[in-house]
Amino acid sequence: MERIFEKKVVKFGGSSLASAEQFKKSADIIKAEESRRFVVPSAPGKRCGNDTKVTDLLISCYKKSASGEDWSADFAEIKSRYNDIISGLGLNVSLDAEFEVISENLKKGTTQDYTASRGEYLNGIILANYIGYEFVDAAEVIFFDAEGRFDADKTNEVMSKRLADVKNAVVPGFYGSSPDGSIKTFSRGGSDITGAIVSRAVCADIYENWTDVSGFLMCDPRIIDDPRPISIITYRELRELSYMGASVLHEDSIFPVKVAGIPINIRNTNRPEDSGTLIVPSAEGYNSGDLITGIAGKKGFAIIRIEKDMMNQELGFGMRVLKVFADRGIPFEHLPSGIDTMCVVINENDIKDIEDEIITDICKAVNPDHIDISHSIGLIAIVGRNMAGTPGTAARIFSALARVGVNIRMIDQGSSELNIIVGVEEKSFNRAIKSIYLEFCIEYELQDC
Ligand code: ASP
Repeated sequence: MERIFEKKVVKFGGSSLASAEQFKKSADIIKAEESRRFVVPSAPGKRCGNDTKVTDLLISCYKKSASGEDWSADFAEIKSRYNDIISGLGLNVSLDAEFEVISENLKKGTTQDYTASRGEYLNGIILANYIGYEFVDAAEVIFFDAEGRFDADKTNEVMSKRLADVKNAVVPGFYGSSPDGSIKTFSRGGSDITGAIVSRAVCADIYENWTDVSGFLMCDPRIIDDPRPISIITYRELRELSYMGASVLHEDSIFPVKVAGIPINIRNTNRPEDSGTLIVPSAEGYNSGDLITGIAGKKGFAIIRIEKDMMNQELGFGMRVLKVFADRGIPFEHLPSGIDTMCVVINENDIKDIEDEIITDICKAVNPDHIDISHSIGLIAIVGRNMAGTPGTAARIFSALARVGVNIRMIDQGSSELNIIVGVEEKSFNRAIKSIYLEFCIEYELQDC
């Protein structure tokens, strides 16, 4: 039975609001359902491959103005982007007074955050006008503390009160205000976070995030042609895949909806008929039937292998090894170990130029029998909630890799059985991913590997 949603928050990304034509598609989506009551817009994004996002133009104005360069051409381009949208929509609105204020503030030496935030602010004014929704400035309802950290409690309290009696509203994405009243932005792509915050504050049934893809794909399309889309994924699975490089949604946008148990639906503004990917707190009741939810991978790792007889009996051995990294502020990614061996997997960039010193420090700390480093390792995560308790999954992964002659350098399975991570040499990376995808996601076509 299809669920009926009464209150939706809908966020539209930059490509969905890049031109009047895209605005019309977004407005049609909003108007198609009365439940789409709260709308979070991004700034106008790219209209085509070599276009520039308005946020980038604004940042360029700020940088040029701060260094005394002429920023008038960039500013003129920004104005014309908005004026084209306004005239394309046939609106009777003028942003001239707003442009004047921004330009004056730039001349007075305003901040980069204020300047960058104006992209969403101006787009919000246009959208609210076009669809007839109330405009609620994010600076009034989203707060950061004096250290620049997002203040979730204050925001939720103020925003939920402010929106309680509002039927329909547009809240621009990406920014809020600091205790001194100045504007502060989230990191790039942060309108996704605003959408999640608004969803929590209004207790939405669902947070729809409209973008230019029909959700997450089971695998990187640069490696697999036309991979299958993911229909249902849990927050935890998404975290695993995002950590390994799959990106559609800003990582920090998960938390506000996760605490409130609100699902996120990634949808495609250019293909509204596609159901997209549904991100849920728990997949109970939904069954996609797939053992694997997705495969993601990242290159650029190194494995430091330390061997010492009777290592398992030496109290504090692991702690002393890890202290070498902690003392230098280097995080480790994985720690697969055997009885007399321990491997530390780290980001190759983190040890660039200091490898010899790290080896010397480890030797001093634990006096190993043998130590070596392997470079250019790619990590591949095979993620799937249905893997837990299904015997033979690891065997299928390893057989798939063996069939295409890929040597596995490292294996790590999370104790929740949500993922299995394998480390392979970068030269076998694509071949490895293809073989796993073919094993689990479609029928064998070994000749493709
Ligand atoms: N406009 C901002 C950016 O380009 C924020 C966003 O689009 O989410 O990063």
